[in-house]
Amino acid sequence: MGENQLSALKATFSNLVALNLLEDLPVAVYSCNKEGYITSFNKAAVKLWGKTPELNKDKWHINREIFDADGALLKPEEMPTGKVLKYGKAVKQQEIYIKHPDGNINCILSNPKPLFNDSGELTGAVNILIDITEQKNAESKQGMLASIIESSEDAIVSKNLAGIITSWNYAAQRLFGYTEDEIIGKHITVLIPEDRYDEEELIIKKIRANERIEHFETIRKTKSGEEIQISLTISPIRNSANQVIGASKIIRDIGRQKKSEEKLLQYAERLEILNSIGQVISAELDIQSILQKVTDATTQLCGAKFGAFFHNQVNEQGESYMLFTLSGAPREAFEKFGMPRNTAVFHPTFSGERTVRVDDITKDPRYGKNAPHFGMPKGHLPVVSYLAVPVRAKSGEVIGGLFFGHEQPARFTIEHEQLVLAVAAQAAVALDNAKLYEDIKQLNEKKDEFIGLASHELKTPVTSLKGYLQIIARNLSPDDKNKPLANRALEQVGKLTTLISDLLDVTKIQTGKLPFTYANFDVIKLLSESREILQQTGPSHELTLNLPFKELIINADCQRIEQVIINLVTNAVKYSPKADKVIIEATVINNKFRVSVQDFGIGIQPDQLDRVFSRFYRVENLASHMSGLGIGLYICQEIVNRHHGRLWVESTYGEGSIFYFEIPINTNDLHHG
Ligand code: ADP
Repeated sequence: MGENQLSALKATFSNLVALNLLEDLPVAVYSCNKEGYITSFNKAAVKLWGKTPELNKDKWHINREIFDADGALLKPEEMPTGKVLKYGKAVKQQEIYIKHPDGNINCILSNPKPLFNDSGELTGAVNILIDITEQKNAESKQGMLASIIESSEDAIVSKNLAGIITSWNYAAQRLFGYTEDEIIGKHITVLIPEDRYDEEELIIKKIRANERIEHFETIRKTKSGEEIQISLTISPIRNSANQVIGASKIIRDIGRQKKSEEKLLQYAERLEILNSIGQVISAELDIQSILQKVTDATTQLCGAKFGAFFHNQVNEQGESYMLFTLSGAPREAFEKFGMPRNTAVFHPTFSGERTVRVDDITKDPRYGKNAPHFGMPKGHLPVVSYLAVPVRAKSGEVIGGLFFGHEQPARFTIEHEQLVLAVAAQAAVALDNAKLYEDIKQLNEKKDEFIGLASHELKTPVTSLKGYLQIIARNLSPDDKNKPLANRALEQVGKLTTLISDLLDVTKIQTGKLPFTYANFDVIKLLSESREILQQTGPSHELTLNLPFKELIINADCQRIEQVIINLVTNAVKYSPKADKVIIEATVINNKFRVSVQDFGIGIQPDQLDRVFSRFYRVENLASHMSGLGIGLYICQEIVNRHHGRLWVESTYGEGSIFYFEIPINTNDLHHG
């Protein structure tokens, strides 16, 4: 064996020993010859490659896909070992990426070194491959986390268990005003208002116990000292031995969110208030009550010490206003001062020009310029904050003004102003309605007065007329040709008398003076007699009377009950011009005497059913031309009601109606009770 051969053998041997040692190492090692064929490898190398190479047959780039750090696929001569074999120089820690047959890509530090024989010729290479994939992943994860933290909208801060701030992101800087340099190393209490220090103790306690705190709403302090509302989520930070070493905090600024929540709540509350005020005042038809309610509500709404509504009453000089309603102060508190006058302060309100809202009226240039008081009169309730809102009618006319005062400055805000304006607008509508109602009421009263007066005035001449006619009729011999004329005249006067007495009845009902005389009488007899009379005056219809008894004594006003019967039957005949019968029936149900009058006439539409009992109400239809005043049913209802009974109607439009009335049989106690 030559010397060269011997040294080569030695080298191989020492390589083998080395490789044996390396066999179980966690680091991949392989060697290859000059041509690149693998000559030895350890277990870790197999793991890395994902396959077992055949010695002297597979080349080192047994994994075809090897990339550099930029992701470019490497040709064999560009691979670290390829370069070593080409140039005979070691490559140190080149980062490459090897694609494993399972698809994973591992990040590897490749450290190939050339092998030489004793004569210095390159014989191959040996490579140590260190897998740094996990390390790399952790690094990039950390990088990612860091960038997430940095770009987070929420402030993210960490501290150790001693409460010292250890990290601080950009959002934290934005929220609290401290830069990272300023705050790191400082104690967390720089962010906590003094009265909340014990919160920190509590937090640390929980963190030590390895507990998380979620969405804890509290207040923290910024660099400028401003207190802000935040929500805290705190998690413990553990070291690799799983010991808690600190805490990370996510701090969310909820001030804005809180503010908009509050605004929303305020808005909803306001709507509710306005709604209820609207309901209250629109239910009122009395002007004074509306104004009082509006004054009370608005005074309360704007937190004024007192509020007043001044009715706009202008005298010839364009001055002087009448005090109408007050809230929060006794009337005497104002009365002695006379009315507010058309001064510069009051003018915008009474002229309806605009709202006046001043934080301190005593400092207002318009204030204190007028004699005799030059400002508030002595003894006036103190006014510093001042709010005055004109109240306009729908027509645009200024009805008056709402005035509010408070002894402290700047008490009234734009919200108060808007609220009062909104109420004032509602009040205007209610006031308009009240005024209309008032006008109608007055007109109605005038009308009633006129009817009462007219019927009263008519009664006397008609009564005498009737008397004279009766004398004339009586004095005429039966075959006198004027006899039928006199009788007809008497008939007409009779109708006139009924009309007048009906009108007088209405007036009496209105004034609560319709007299009743209760007595026992046989209502069956009354029905029969009434039928007789009616049959004679209205022979066009057959009046059928169905009676269950021969006699029934009831206690009632006989004449008034007769009036009801006559009215109902007359109507039945009148409103069934094409029919030829009317059915009258009487029954007793539950100790009540019930009469029904059925016709087969024009009927009544459902929506008119209740209204026919109203005073002066007549259904507008084909029967409109039929004469009548629309008071018969009104009087009937009053009579029946006064007997503690009931009057109602069932009707099918175009087919006919049944009017019922019902009165208790034993009404003795009721009438006199
Ligand atoms: P008047 O008959 O003088 O108009 P009432 O008070 O007796 O006044 O009746 C009020 C209205 O009710 C009448 O105008 C009529 O439109 C309607 N009405 C009353 N009775 C009947 C009926 N039997 N059928 C249809 N409509 C009726």
